[in-house]
Amino acid sequence: MRIGVVTEVKNSEFRVALTPAGAHELILAGHEVAVQQGAGIGSAFPDDAYADVGAWIAPAAADVWGWSELLLKVKEPVASEYPLLRRDLVLFTYLHLAADEALTRALLGAGTTAIAYETVQLPDRSLPLLAPMSEVAGRLSVQVGAYQLMKDEGGRGVLLGGVPGTPRAKVVIIGGGVAGEHAAEVAIGMLADVTVLDVSVPRLRALEARFGPRVHTLRSNPYTVAEETRTADLVVGAVLVPGARAPKLVTEAMVTQMNPGSVLVDIAVDQGGCFEGTRPTTYAEPTFRVHDSTFYCVANMPGAVPITSTVALTNVTLPYVAAIAANGWESALGRHPELLPGVSTTRGRLTSEPVANAHGLPH
Ligand code: NAD
Repeated sequence: MRIGVVTEVKNSEFRVALTPAGAHELILAGHEVAVQQGAGIGSAFPDDAYADVGAWIAPAAADVWGWSELLLKVKEPVASEYPLLRRDLVLFTYLHLAADEALTRALLGAGTTAIAYETVQLPDRSLPLLAPMSEVAGRLSVQVGAYQLMKDEGGRGVLLGGVPGTPRAKVVIIGGGVAGEHAAEVAIGMLADVTVLDVSVPRLRALEARFGPRVHTLRSNPYTVAEETRTADLVVGAVLVPGARAPKLVTEAMVTQMNPGSVLVDIAVDQGGCFEGTRPTTYAEPTFRVHDSTFYCVANMPGAVPITSTVALTNVTLPYVAAIAANGWESALGRHPELLPGVSTTRGRLTSEPVANAHGLPH
């Protein structure tokens, strides 16, 4: 199959949908790969790295779009890319169609088969193509939180792990799923005093089994959230209620009770956020003050570490890319039924019920 990779055009997007190692694997399997000139630069993959494994370096995006049978991207196409959509094209990328009616209509109008990374779902309801980004965001949350806690940044002026003879900083993580577990791992590694709250006791059990006495676990409810945040230095919000907006677990009244200079990182900002007062920010201006605390609410945290995020993403997408390329997307469903919820549009039909409901379109 002819597989194409284009340069991402969204603002501040430095990831690329395929690594040279991935291109190599696909070429070894007998496929042809085209990569737009410069597509990998943001992730430190020069054109030569792709050319060396046998990929064609195409001068312009339109060349790749027009040539490809399967087009790999990271982010959804933007309006300038709509005219490049075609009926005989399979597009595999993060799509977020429920939030984008214009793109939904463009895909339907062109008849493109669009498969969304974020809705590929395993029988245990986990989202394998979203998980690595939660891992990145979870680990980053403690790194950025530690920085914001420094006095010059407006923070309390406390070192997460302290030093011998001083108290450790208190890190409270609300939501102990993929992002929360990775936040806990880094906070423990930085020697902080770490508490994880979750509504799921099996999750708490799993965290204790993994981290032992280095983590305190508590069942999340308004009482424990209020108690724990009051004395916290750093709070990480990492909850997810699938298919719904995040619940507002840290109220404004709770924030008024917190230590001056405390930092709250809301990873769940992309689902509306789990702190009252959360609003999406970007890396250009990642924080804002709420009472005497700092809120950090960057909606695309993995974008800051494209070298890591690109490899993490392509590690999980590549097996699906290989399956689709081998015999077409419909055959791939046989071996990978988890791809089915990802198939959002095909041949002018809207096949995703949540997307149809979001836009009042038939499916
Ligand atoms: P996950 O499903 O693995 O974990 C979510 C956890 O929240 C679950 O363990 C669940 O039991 C728990 N939970 C639900 N309601 C709760 C409550 N009331 N109190 C405490 N815990 C509760 O999800 P994930 O993959 O870790 O993702 C977490 C969030 O991070 C999602 O909103 C996701 O979209 C977001 N995310 C954001 C970025 C970013 O850049 N900002 C990147 C990746 C993921």
